[in-house]
Amino acid sequence: MRKPLIAGNWKMNGSAELVETFARAFAETTLPASVEVLIHPPFPYLQAASEAFAATPIGLGAQTLNPLHAGARTGEVSGQMLKEFGVEWVLVGHSERRQLYHEGDEAVFDRVIAALGVGIRPILCVGETLEERDAGRTEEVVLRQVGYVMSRLEPAQRRQLTLAYEPVWAIGTGRTATPAQAQEVMAAIRAYQAGFDRELAAELRLLYGGSMNASNAAELLAQQDIDGGLIGGASLKVDDFIAICQSAG
Ligand code: 13P
Repeated sequence: MRKPLIAGNWKMNGSAELVETFARAFAETTLPASVEVLIHPPFPYLQAASEAFAATPIGLGAQTLNPLHAGARTGEVSGQMLKEFGVEWVLVGHSERRQLYHEGDEAVFDRVIAALGVGIRPILCVGETLEERDAGRTEEVVLRQVGYVMSRLEPAQRRQLTLAYEPVWAIGTGRTATPAQAQEVMAAIRAYQAGFDRELAAELRLLYGGSMNASNAAELLAQQDIDGGLIGGASLKVDDFIAICQSAG
């Protein structure tokens, strides 16, 4: 019932050439019809990607946005600008933004609202640090991050949201959460949603992120509450990324 979604977050990686490589490879690949695929390249490649991916099933996402429409914010990019380049999705609350750029729950919420305001679908990223996991606080931290945003949205806005659970200790470390660990947190997120909207909880897409690759994707995606993946490192290798997309079908 929930359509699998595989999103590649290139972070501050990639090149114009990589955009072309993906466009060529995906134009020649038949993906399972049930799978939705996104690439989130860095800002400078959005225009090229928007043109090159048009002939492929790849949808276009950005990695962040500024909550304001316009103004004196040197170096920032607004949702309105992203929309002009055909961006349909945006990552919000990625742990690298939370940690390196000090974006707290309120800043994350402001970005969700800004994205929804221009018709871009936010992928809200949540996840605990190793310290929080070791202290037994995983659920508390993750549900706080989810709840802060969800509780402030109108029901129709909640339906536009996709969630990505990315344990911080699994990001870029090669240390993937076990399928059981990931499933446990995903089930908690869905149960939390069901507490105030059962229908939404059943429809909400939950992605797993954190060292997901071509070898471990199938096992993770087979979990009941995992509806897709948010892929970092492995989304820079076109063959690996295609293999992950295939395994989601
Ligand atoms: P890796 O797949 O490199 O661990 O990154 C995950 C991630 O942060 C995707 O947003």
